Amino acid sequence: MTMEDTQPGAIIGLGLSIMFLYGMLEMLWLALISKQVSFKHDFWQSARNVVIVVSLSSIPLFSTAGFGLLGQELAPLQLGMEWYYWPLGLLIYEFWYWVQHFLAHKVRLLWCLHSPHHAPDTINMVVGYNHHMLEVPYMAFFMGFVPTLCGVPVEMVIVINGFDMIWGSMLHASPRVIKRRYGILEYFMQTPSYHRAHHAKNPRYMDTNYNATTLFWDWALGTLQPLRDDEPVEYGITRDVNVESWRDVQFGEMSLLWQDIKNAPDLKSKLGYTFCPPGWSHVGDHKMASTQKLALEN
Ligand SMILES: [Zn+2]
Ligand SMILES: [Zn+2]
Repeated sequence: MTMEDTQPGAIIGLGLSIMFLYGMLEMLWLALISKQVSFKHDFWQSARNVVIVVSLSSIPLFSTAGFGLLGQELAPLQLGMEWYYWPLGLLIYEFWYWVQHFLAHKVRLLWCLHSPHHAPDTINMVVGYNHHMLEVPYMAFFMGFVPTLCGVPVEMVIVINGFDMIWGSMLHASPRVIKRRYGILEYFMQTPSYHRAHHAKNPRYMDTNYNATTLFWDWALGTLQPLRDDEPVEYGITRDVNVESWRDVQFGEMSLLWQDIKNAPDLKSKLGYTFCPPGWSHVGDHKMASTQKLALEN
């Protein structure tokens, strides 16, 4: 193994260690030392999903690297590993990150998989790892298979994904510990303040700030929403979810979708409930994020 092989791995390893250490210290400080939050309520609702997510992510077939190797095999052409290809590699990777996250918010079937990440009525480092078990292969497909199929080398994808994962986790730092503005970074990077807006159920903030590293695609595709001083974040999702019930967090959206499909009068309405944005209604009484935003403007 050469120096070039070991360096990115060592840097990602160091980043992961800092991220886990910070997460543990944040939890200890908030729940045990300063007693600002309840361990059971604020951390347990997310922590119980972490074991499942971490275990599934380590299965090669479900991992970004596993999907990446498959995509690279099928790619018609490939970028080099020279430094000047990296910005293009990041741009391609982040585009597909934006697409998967946009679809996860805008297609109700996929929202069933993504909503557990948004269900907590708070934000802290543990929320960062709180995902539905089926979201693991969904994200690995978009972050591993699709960028490599578009020509990004699998080694580049693994390094970018490693950084994206570490930075994306740090976006969940509790506002009770870290202040909310991040100086010059706010102009080009996703910061905890942007991601706090992403976790909000306020109509203005819903379905915004999809990326985890830079602001480029959110800015280019019109989904960038800075946190406003005059509108504090209300964390969570719009339905009444029992955040202390693992079953409701993981499967509540699926069971509501099933009810709507069952009660829909025809095939078109059944497909509408499955593939239209959450809040779509076959009688036209929509409660989608876009209709709520429209009401905000009027
Ligand atoms: Zn989201
Ligand atoms: Zn998040």
